Amino acid sequence: MSRFDMLNYIDGQWVGHDLEKIKVTNPATGELIGTVPNGGEAETQLAIDAAHRALGDWSKRTASDRADLLRTFFNLIMEHKQELAELMTLENGKPLKESLGEVDYAASFIEWFAEEGKRVYGRTIPGKRENHRIKVIKQPVGVVAAITPWNFPAAMITRKLAPALAAGCTFIVKPPEQTPLTALKLAELAEQAGIPKGVFNVVCADPESFSNKIFSDMRVRKITFTGSTEVGRLLMKKASENIMRLSLELGGHAPVIVCDDADLDQAVEMIMASKFRNSGQTCICANRVYVQSGVYDAFIEKLSGEVKKLKWGNGMEEGVDIGPLIDKDGYQKVESQVKDALEKGAKCLVGGSGRADLEKDTYFFEPTLLVDMNESMDMMHIETFGPVLPIQKFESDEEAIRLANDTPFGLAAYFFTQNVSRGIKISEALEYGIIGWNDGVPSCAQAPFGGMKQSGLGREGGTEGIEEYLETKYISLSI
Ligand code: NAD
Repeated sequence: MSRFDMLNYIDGQWVGHDLEKIKVTNPATGELIGTVPNGGEAETQLAIDAAHRALGDWSKRTASDRADLLRTFFNLIMEHKQELAELMTLENGKPLKESLGEVDYAASFIEWFAEEGKRVYGRTIPGKRENHRIKVIKQPVGVVAAITPWNFPAAMITRKLAPALAAGCTFIVKPPEQTPLTALKLAELAEQAGIPKGVFNVVCADPESFSNKIFSDMRVRKITFTGSTEVGRLLMKKASENIMRLSLELGGHAPVIVCDDADLDQAVEMIMASKFRNSGQTCICANRVYVQSGVYDAFIEKLSGEVKKLKWGNGMEEGVDIGPLIDKDGYQKVESQVKDALEKGAKCLVGGSGRADLEKDTYFFEPTLLVDMNESMDMMHIETFGPVLPIQKFESDEEAIRLANDTPFGLAAYFFTQNVSRGIKISEALEYGIIGWNDGVPSCAQAPFGGMKQSGLGREGGTEGIEEYLETKYISLSI
C-alpha cells in the first residue's frame, strides 16, 4: 500500500476505485508515493455533466456569496500549508521552503479573486437615438476545463480556478500525471470549504481522451492550458473545430540584460532567485543572461560565488536549494544543451555535471554557471528547464535588445539598470508580456501574467485574469 492512494473528485464524489492507476513517484528518490485513477472519456463526460448541472446555481449566486466560500477555501489552504507543501515536495521534488512559498502564492489567487469577483462591472453607453439605451453586461462564460503542468502543482490550478469560480463559472481540471496529488488535496479542501458539488472537479485522466472530450462537448465554453508550446499548438488546432475559447500559457526563454550601470549585488540576488527556483524548471526562469562588457568580469565573480553556495539534493532535507529534474527527458535536454555549449567554446565555471541515478530513476543536475556563451549555442535559443545559467557579453543596448527579442517566445524578460530613461527605453523595446526591471520575481495575483508570440494567448492574474472567464453582452434597448 503506497502512502497516498487518491481518487478522482467528480460531482462532489470520490470516484475511480475500479480504474487502472497512474503511479506517482518521488523524483528525488524514485520511490512510489501514491496512485490516482487513470480516467478517460467516460470520467471526463461525468465531470462535464456535473459542472454543467452545477452552473445554474453557482452562476446565479451573488459575487459576495461566492467570495465567502472562496475565502473559507483560502483559509483552509493556509491552515494545511505544511501538509500541502510536503506533498508537493514529495511529488515534484522542489525544496520544501519553495513548496511553502508556492502554497502562499497559490492561495493568494483565491484570496484576491474572491474580492475581484465583486468588481465585475458592466457599462451604460449613450444611445444612438433619443429613445435608445445601451447596456453592456458581463456574464460567466460557463463550464471551464483546464489542463495544468507539474512545475507548480498548486499555483497553476488556483491561477485558473480562482478567477473562474469568482466569475461564476464551474470548473474541471486535469492535473499532470507527475503531480496529481496536490490537485486532489486542493479538491479535498474545497469540499471542506463547502464549495458545492460539481463546481470544482478533478479528473486524473489520459490527456488525449480528456482533451478529445472537452473540445467536442459544446457545453464546455472555455479551455485554459498551461504547459509546453508543442501541446499548446495541438490544443489550438482542436479548438478550431468548435471555435472554442482558449487561453494558453506556454513556454518561455527569458533573457536577462545586465547593463553597466546596474546595481550588481541586486542583479546577482534577483538572477539567482529567478534562475534556480524549482531547479530552473519555471516558464519565467532566467534562461540566458547578457552582461555588458564593462561589468562582465565583476558580475561573473560575484555570481559564481553565489552559484557555488547552492546545495543540491532531496528537497525534504534542510538546507537543500536544488531538487531533482522532473524526469529523464528533462535531464537529457539539460545535459545535451550543456554539452553543445562546451563543444562550441563555452567555459564552465561552476558545476557542469549531471547526477543521474539510472537504477533509482532520479535525475539531479549540478547548479551550473557557463560563460563565454554565443548565439550559435542551443541554450541561447531553446528553453532549458534546468539549473544552468549561461552568460554572454554584449556592448550596446541595441545589441542586447536584438539578442533578447531574437526568439519566437515572449513570456518574461528582465533587465538591470539604475538609469530611468534607459530603463524605460529597454522596457518598451522588449517584446515580452512580463518585464522585470531590477526584479527577478515579478509574478503576483494582482498583476497580469502571460506571454506574447508563441508563449501564449490571454493573461492570468489581475483584472485581465477574470476577463478570461467573462462574456461581454450588449443589450440594445428602445424605450
Ligand atoms: P506539457 O505540455 O508536456 O504538459 C502539460 C499538461 O498537458 C499536462 O497536464 C499533460 O498531461 C497535458 N498534455 C500532454 N499532452 C497532451 C495532449 N496531447 N493533449 C492534452 N493534454 C496534454 O508541459 P510540461 O512539461 O508539463 O510543462 C512544462 C512546460 O510548461 C514548459 O514549456 C513551461 O515553460 C510551460 N509553463 C508555462 C507557464 C506559463 O504560465 N506560461 C507556466 C508553467 C509552465
